[in-house]
Amino acid sequence: MSLAELQEVERSSVIASYARQPVEFVRGEGARLWDDEGNEYLDFLCGISVTNIGHCHPRVVAAVREQVGRLMHTSNLYYTEPAMRLAQRLSQSSLGGKVFFCNSGAEASEAAIKLARKARAGGDVVVVYGAFHGRTYGALSATPQESKQAPFAPLVPGFRAVAAEPDALAGAVDERTAAVLVEPIQGESGVHVLSNDTLAAARAACDEHGAALIFDEVQCGMGRTGTLWAYEQMGVRPDAMTVAKALGGGLPIGALITGERLADVLAPGDHGSTFAGGPVVAAAALAALEVTDEQPLLGRVRELGQRLMAGLRELPHVVSVRGRGMMLACELDVPAPEVVRRALLAQRLIVNATGPTTVRLLPPLTIEREQIDDGLARLAGALEG
Ligand code: PLP
Repeated sequence: MSLAELQEVERSSVIASYARQPVEFVRGEGARLWDDEGNEYLDFLCGISVTNIGHCHPRVVAAVREQVGRLMHTSNLYYTEPAMRLAQRLSQSSLGGKVFFCNSGAEASEAAIKLARKARAGGDVVVVYGAFHGRTYGALSATPQESKQAPFAPLVPGFRAVAAEPDALAGAVDERTAAVLVEPIQGESGVHVLSNDTLAAARAACDEHGAALIFDEVQCGMGRTGTLWAYEQMGVRPDAMTVAKALGGGLPIGALITGERLADVLAPGDHGSTFAGGPVVAAAALAALEVTDEQPLLGRVRELGQRLMAGLRELPHVVSVRGRGMMLACELDVPAPEVVRRALLAQRLIVNATGPTTVRLLPPLTIEREQIDDGLARLAGALEG
């Protein structure tokens, strides 16, 4: 089908919940994508922080091919080795407790909220303004954004939003608080790094009142900021965290990972999901995690992230740049959606707008130095119009 035909099918048959750009992609490799006419694009978005190790990484492809022909699904009523190995690896690489698998970031938020509420029955969940934890009802209730919540009221009760500041968080937590749920680096709000002081205040308040501190690392985890998990750079260790997006190397899988204190809160029958942690996605995730955690990848993310940040600061119409590693945003003095469209259609560079003047960049962690420079040149072209 041609792009025009796809658009016609969309108009007649697809619920209009996405505003798609007029491009059809047919192939991907590393940091590059190709459209249906053979044009090559540089991908500085990674499917919104999913293809962190590049499109179709050969080790992920090999792991999937091997597993998909052997066993695709059994449900969680039985054991499969990929799921057990992945849980062990995730736990050992992070909080040392136990893992619950699911299929997406929103589902990981749901699991985290359920776990926190079971640990402290009836307890509130404290979240911060600007947060994004997903679009299912629990996750949406934890996402204090009027435009996303209002059409879908009534929401799940028991969520309270405060400013992402030390005093606000310290004052919001008491003995009725089940959890503080935060992204250490907010993604959808336009890459806002919570300060170490803010996270330390949340940690102290949770410790004082016996609440769970839960980090949403769905977007900022899996190496995106130059360490495997963002919390490693922030001086605070959460009691649990959620992961998804890049975990499956391009396939859908999410996880809730606990530390030891919360490891045994959920019992058989409390929570579940038919597909969760299936052997194919678990095999893909094991391969993706191995690639991500191998030297010198994360060091390169920090180094090339600095290069990208410095380059962005030199571009016309860029007012400021923020972020960590390969999770960056720039504030412009011109409308971001137009720049993003020009970048895609005229420069063949993929980035996205998270606000009227904010462009977000999430390039692959495996990107080459020359591709960083190429991306900067293409963005400059889009900014110059
Ligand atoms: N949490 C964060 C921080 C996210 O960025 C997202 C998605 O963008 C989600 C949760 C929801 O993930 P999903 O779209 O896989 O449900």
